[in-house]
Amino acid sequence: MSARLARAGLIAAAAGAAVLMLRGPIGDHAAGDPLETPLAASAPASAAIPVAAASAAAELAAVAPAASGASAAASAPVVAAAVPASAASAPAPVAAAASAAASAAIAAAAPASGASAAALAALAARQAVKPCGELIARLPNVSQALCEAAELKASGWMSVEGFPLFQRDVAAPAQSVAVVSTGGPRPPRRPRVLVIGAIHGDEISSASLVFHWIAHAIETGAEMDWRFIPALNPDGLLQKKPSRMNARGIDLNRNFPTPHWHPNAHEYWIKRTKQDARRYPGPEPLSEPESRFVTHTMDSWKPDVIVSVHAPFGVLDYDGPSTPPERLGRLFLDRVGIYPGSLGNYGGAHRGIPVVTIELPSAVSTPTDADMRQMWIDLLRWIGERLSPVER
Ligand SMILES: [Zn+2]
Repeated sequence: MSARLARAGLIAAAAGAAVLMLRGPIGDHAAGDPLETPLAASAPASAAIPVAAASAAAELAAVAPAASGASAAASAPVVAAAVPASAASAPAPVAAAASAAASAAIAAAAPASGASAAALAALAARQAVKPCGELIARLPNVSQALCEAAELKASGWMSVEGFPLFQRDVAAPAQSVAVVSTGGPRPPRRPRVLVIGAIHGDEISSASLVFHWIAHAIETGAEMDWRFIPALNPDGLLQKKPSRMNARGIDLNRNFPTPHWHPNAHEYWIKRTKQDARRYPGPEPLSEPESRFVTHTMDSWKPDVIVSVHAPFGVLDYDGPSTPPERLGRLFLDRVGIYPGSLGNYGGAHRGIPVVTIELPSAVSTPTDADMRQMWIDLLRWIGERLSPVER
């Protein structure tokens, strides 16, 4: 453990005073929205976090974006898409295949271009929006000052409705040690951690947590490079009544190109969710700009760990190689399983990138500031312990 992480541990001890987690009124999950039944139990974990984001070109190729109907799914049994997370040792010539698949999906999903001048003007206005206006007006426990300190930048990617997908990078100090062994010809580098909030727009507390963590990263940074995306689904978040789905009614966390997405994602949706509108996976994998933004970030920035923040089930879930964190703050590991098209399934099981899924206990109010800080400290400690140190 580095000195910096050791310091974080001391802070952890100091910040560990007992404060009850707020459990406020819950969003539209509240009644009758139980945790889904997964297809299969999570893959077993192995020992160390691999850095090369190995993935399966063949698997990606199998996800050819053929136009499919949900109807084709009716007779076949649901196939457990349980591919062992052994991709870690494979070489990684996959980025090209991945981006080719993504491009094909983009082409397949291009909207008809009949936009009027007025619509284009409205879109331009939307794209010029500042992050600390309507976004934080929606979020609990995020002050104007906290938002401005986050210094969010437009990523260049937009939601379906043209809202900018903001992000913030916080780099490790230049003098910090590279602690990730890339296990190959590439030189060691600092670990990269991607943190995503509000992939489900009605889990508004998840975006708030990310704002608080940006402040902690600026303050304590540790020896890691961070990329934060506080609100991946701003269209859902900003609806009058926040929506889990994006502006096209698609559950982004079922839209990732897991192997055999066709037909598994639709079969799952039909049979297991009874066509729950809140869990529609979309017409094609990566049919949505928000999910494409995530896979683009995975291909280009190559995170070593992904943290995806949700609510309101009050647990930790984990997919991928390495040993999961036992707890973050008051949340304990309770592995839920995998779903076709989910980010954990795609990133963890199929690309070999550890994905920590946080389920906050409430969708509409954050944990206390002390609890969020403790979660951050526990996350730093876990990453520091799991990454292979490199001789200087
Ligand atoms: Zn969620």
